[in-house]
Amino acid sequence: FFIAFEGGDGAGKSTQVRAVAEWIRSKGHEVVVTREPGATPIGQRLRAILLDVSSAGLSDRAEALLYAADRAEHVDSVVQPALARGAVVITDRYIDSSVAYQGAGRDLSPTEIARINRWATGGLVPHLTVLLDVSPETARERFTEAPDRLESEPMEFHNRVRTGFLTLAAADPSRYLVVDAGQAPEDITTVVRHRLDQVLPL
Ligand code: C5P
Repeated sequence: FFIAFEGGDGAGKSTQVRAVAEWIRSKGHEVVVTREPGATPIGQRLRAILLDVSSAGLSDRAEALLYAADRAEHVDSVVQPALARGAVVITDRYIDSSVAYQGAGRDLSPTEIARINRWATGGLVPHLTVLLDVSPETARERFTEAPDRLESEPMEFHNRVRTGFLTLAAADPSRYLVVDAGQAPEDITTVVRHRLDQVLPL
């Protein structure tokens, strides 16, 4: 069973991924927690390039392809092997991040981004995608460390990303759970658990 958490920077994805993983483990499942970009050794190197402030001149299409390369490596060496042995896989970001950031955020066609990623992943789609939706203003207040290259983008960029995610969710409600990420973390976890109770094969 494959679950993706998506959302803007500062939406609280990593906190939720941890809490939900612990809960699924307590039910006796093997859970593999992973993330993009950077879950593999090659991915770590791609992440360093992608997030370094000195990559400011990176072309939009090159950026999209580097994220897709990270994802291809991630699916082949982490996600698919874990799914094949029956584990529940939870990833912090997946294809929809590319459609939202490189498509809606930059000026690339979301359809084209979705297409290269379909190829990069061999068509692997999550059973459930949890979108933690939060306004960029609220999210920004949560940054504790120096912002990375993307977090330094202007508010309009982050608003386009947010709209990109919401558009994806609206187009495929059966795969998506949209949660107001402005709520307390425990309340968010409860909403996600409720949905998983209905869909997780137990
Ligand atoms: O989720 P995490 O903070 O690890 O993501 C690292 C950075 O990469 C974030 O600032 C996020 O905005 C950016 N990102 C991106 N496009 C993606 C995935 C992540 O711009 N497809």
